[in-house]
Amino acid sequence: MEEASLMADLERFLEDRCLSVLNLPQKGRSLFATRGFRPGEVILSQKPYICVPNNNNNNTSSSSESRCDGCFKTNDNNLKRCSGCQVVWYCGSSCQKSEWKLHRHECKALSTLDKEKRKFVTPTIRLMVKLYIKRNLQNEKVLPVTTTDNYSLVEALVSHMSEIDEKQMLLYAQMANLVNLILQLPSVDLREIAENFSKFSCNAHTICDSELRPQGIGLFPFVSIINHSCSPNAILVFEEQMAVVRAIDKIPKDSEITISYIETAGSTLTRQKSLKEQYLFHCQCARCNNFGKPHDIEESAILEGYRCADEKCTGFLLRDPEEKGFVCQKCLLLRSKEEVKKLASEVKRVSENAPASPSAENKQGAIELYKTIEKLQVTLYNSFSITLMRTREKLLKMLMDVESWREALNYCRLIVPVYQRVYPATHPLIGLQFYTQGKLEWLLGETKEAVSSLTKAFDVLRISHGTSTPFMKELSAKLEEARAEASYIDRQTYNDDN
Ligand SMILES: [Zn+2]
Ligand SMILES: [Zn+2]
Ligand SMILES: [Zn+2]
Ligand SMILES: [Zn+2]
Repeated sequence: MEEASLMADLERFLEDRCLSVLNLPQKGRSLFATRGFRPGEVILSQKPYICVPNNNNNNTSSSSESRCDGCFKTNDNNLKRCSGCQVVWYCGSSCQKSEWKLHRHECKALSTLDKEKRKFVTPTIRLMVKLYIKRNLQNEKVLPVTTTDNYSLVEALVSHMSEIDEKQMLLYAQMANLVNLILQLPSVDLREIAENFSKFSCNAHTICDSELRPQGIGLFPFVSIINHSCSPNAILVFEEQMAVVRAIDKIPKDSEITISYIETAGSTLTRQKSLKEQYLFHCQCARCNNFGKPHDIEESAILEGYRCADEKCTGFLLRDPEEKGFVCQKCLLLRSKEEVKKLASEVKRVSENAPASPSAENKQGAIELYKTIEKLQVTLYNSFSITLMRTREKLLKMLMDVESWREALNYCRLIVPVYQRVYPATHPLIGLQFYTQGKLEWLLGETKEAVSSLTKAFDVLRISHGTSTPFMKELSAKLEEARAEASYIDRQTYNDDN
């Protein structure tokens, strides 16, 4: 297809979906709704132009960390390595077949690479190799070119090349050299490859499963048109490798559709810092424009600040003008600089001994360490502190791993209210946390509580995840089962009472 006809097709494609792309002076291409969208409605979905699983080639001896290149499943030990290149894994012949048109070229290229160099073939390198192979195959008409699946959409992505520092540029140049070594293309433009790496860093998406665990990376050039907001009206989730953008809020006609590129739980400064670092832009969303206003100051002090000296007080603290410490804005009690400093260094000291990902043997030890950290953080931070929340998330995960269900449930119940404070009501993390809580309650025989938690999980997740995915079907089946059990228990109690 020619460029002009692709553009016309794209416009029709958008029109059919009640969308339009406008060029805004500050933001560049932006996606707008030409009709209203309800929360939970699918705005747009797109298969990846290219994608690769998050495999680690340094660990070539075992397949435990590997995923199938076709479906991203970790089939534990049933994955088989491609005999040609020894780099890629498949769950079976159907995935291998469906990938072969593209992989046969990649396979040949990777096979010529010596074993030492194969270790440097990271997912990002593979993504680039696949980008060029796919472009060539589409140019040669071996693979079809469609409205939403063509290289000109990749060309249109922003790269922010002028803002990249020298160190980063050097790294991109080295990566481009490796890609060139793999591809052995006759007329390769190293600068173009480097520029594409820069495009990846601001445009590639992490593909997550329904529980928001990262599985791989992919390029969805159409989804990349959607701009960021720290209080977005839409969310990007994945159904297998398909990107699905759903409204999480009421989107009125003619308004811009936004998603969040980053973790939104954080102060304005924290959010802006991570956007600047990874996406190289200064966010001017409604939430960021409140910077320095009373509400924004309070929000930062709650999410990242200290707790009142009075244990029972829920006030937030601000630095006192005389620099003596931090003053509670509710009861005016002062917490001295020295006390805060002492506690903070104690937390730091204990944290240094805590393993980020403890091995199976020392999990119990790690749990004890993290409990100590949590106790200290409870005395130091505001009860809605992000740092404290992260510690509790780690504890919850480790307690689930060692099957300490009761304790896990206790932490789950501590995390939920914090999520509800730091995330918007329709954020999938709130739904997922209720799901975990519901499963734990059910396991521990608290059926009524389980029904309530699973219902809350369903109500949140149907907005972000829809209702038709296998994950949501499983949730709704669990909910039905729990409801049936609860009503059986009710009848039993009624019969016993009479
Ligand atoms: Zn597969
Ligand atoms: Zn291969
Ligand atoms: Zn913002
Ligand atoms: Zn107070």
